Amino acid sequence: MPADAESPVPVESRLRDLRPEASPVEFVARVVACDRREVTRKSDGSRRPLLSGLLSDGTATVRFTWWDPPREGVERGVVLRVVGAEVREFRGRPEVTFSWKTRVGPASAAELPRVDGEELPFRTVGDLRPSDEGFRLEVRVVRIAPKTVTVGTERRVVHEGLVADKTGAIALSSWSDFGLKAGEAVRVAGGYVRAFRGRPQVVLDDRASVVRVDGTDLPDPAQLLAAPPRSIAEVEDEGGGEAVAVEGLVVGLLPPSGIVFRCPTCHRSIRSGICRVHGQVEGQPDLRARIVLDDGTGAVTVNAARGDAERLWGVTLEEAQARLRNQPDPSLIEEQMLEVLLGRRLRVRGVGTRDDFGVTLQPESIERVDIDLDAAAEELSARLGTGR
Ligand SMILES: [Zn+2]
Repeated sequence: MPADAESPVPVESRLRDLRPEASPVEFVARVVACDRREVTRKSDGSRRPLLSGLLSDGTATVRFTWWDPPREGVERGVVLRVVGAEVREFRGRPEVTFSWKTRVGPASAAELPRVDGEELPFRTVGDLRPSDEGFRLEVRVVRIAPKTVTVGTERRVVHEGLVADKTGAIALSSWSDFGLKAGEAVRVAGGYVRAFRGRPQVVLDDRASVVRVDGTDLPDPAQLLAAPPRSIAEVEDEGGGEAVAVEGLVVGLLPPSGIVFRCPTCHRSIRSGICRVHGQVEGQPDLRARIVLDDGTGAVTVNAARGDAERLWGVTLEEAQARLRNQPDPSLIEEQMLEVLLGRRLRVRGVGTRDDFGVTLQPESIERVDIDLDAAAEELSARLGTGR
């Protein structure tokens, strides 16, 4: 058989090791994102299909461009074996291109390169950045709970929680059940960081490994969850956080507060019986309070769900509905709620996210803090007087 000097034999690579001079390359990787388009050719105006996106093999994530891809069968989550791809560098990062010379076929997750946890560098929570992967982490599990979600047409269980080390805390989503328990110290290898709703989180799948460690250097979960409240200005500066504690006075409620109606399918609040996803629906009543809490340095919005809203207001959803039947104006319900809550000092712990309107807290706990009434009245009138 004559040797073909024109086409060098591809060597199977890990994405972390891709270099342009190694082209063409062979690798096995999972599609983590993809987007199908058609590009118009300048020469004759014909349309040429193009698939582009991201591939990951647990050692790195690279962009790919695939000219004339198959019509179907390539979607997020699929593992591919690629033989004869070209590597280019764009802004200092490798990218791969599949052409007519490239052979691409399905592969199994077992063919992905083995990520040996022992060779991955140690990172701290504080230095993790979105799209990082190929690291080891030693963290304390602060909390963890299973949740059933729908992915496409499939129901899956994801274990969601919070992990922390001395440098900070980060959300965790594990698609594999590692039997994690709150309080444990673990060494995690083979996870990756993704932004979800604007917040970074560590994602683990069945290729990640989790080992229990003694964790003497790691913070105590009780300590983390009971950290003293910080100033709202600091929380705003940091853009929120995973385990935020603040304390302040209730200075107002934002709409919708009081009785809201939710779509029975997706639980979004609906307007005039219309869910923006499911159309005309039979709304289910719920009680909520969007509390504006001010500590003198700034204000946050606390989204209190039914349990907290009932407890803080001292009125149940059923009682509020009875009031609404006698007095069919929902804004009166909100006013009555505000009357009770205004000026109360609350200590709130939860997850804080920042958007254009400031920081919103999804509370894990809301405690009422007893205060000196005269001092509070003075403080409140001083703050309301500042014209916020
Ligand atoms: Zn809906």
